[in-house]
Amino acid sequence: MKRSRGKLAISAILAFVLCVSFAGCSDVGRSEDSASSSISSSSLTAQSSDRAQEATSSSAEDEAAKAGAEERATEDAEARAQQEAEAEAARKAAEEQAAAEAEAARKAAAEAEAARAAESARQQQESAAATSPNAAVVYVAASGNGKKYHSSPSCSNMKGTRQLSVDEAQRLGYGPCKKCY
Ligand SMILES: [Zn+2]
Repeated sequence: MKRSRGKLAISAILAFVLCVSFAGCSDVGRSEDSASSSISSSSLTAQSSDRAQEATSSSAEDEAAKAGAEERATEDAEARAQQEAEAEAARKAAEEQAAAEAEAARKAAAEAEAARAAESARQQQESAAATSPNAAVVYVAASGNGKKYHSSPSCSNMKGTRQLSVDEAQRLGYGPCKKCY
C-alpha cells in the first residue's frame, strides 16, 4: 500500500508537473503566439505606418511635384509672355522698319521723279536753246566797259573777253556790234 501511495504521489506530482509544464508550455505557446501576433501586428502597424509615411511622403512629393509643376507652368507662362512680347516688339520693329523703308522708297522715288523732271526740263531748255539763234555764243569785253557784244573775240581789239549767250548779253544791256554783226 505504501508503495502504491507513493506511486500515486509520484503520479500526482508528475501529473502536476506535466500539467504545470503543459500549462506553462501552453502559456508560453500562447504568449509566444500573442508575442508573435503582437510582433506581426506591430510589424503590420509599422508597415502600415510606413505606408502612411509613404503615403504622407508621396503626398508631400505629390504636393512638391504639383508646386514644381505650377512653378514650371508659371515660368512657362512667363516665358511665353516674354516670347510673345518679344515677338510683338519684333513685329512692331519690322513694321516700323517696313514703314521707314516704304517712306524711304517713296522719297527716293519722288526724288528720282523730281530729278527726272528736272533733267527733262533741262534737256528741253537745252534743245530749245540749241534751236534758238539767241543761244549763240557771243563775246563781250572782259572789262565790262563795252556796250556791244561780238561774234568774234578778236573784234575791236578787245584785251579780254567774256563768253556768254546772246540772250544773256541782251539781258545785261549789251547791243550787237555793228562791225561783226
Ligand atoms: Zn564786233
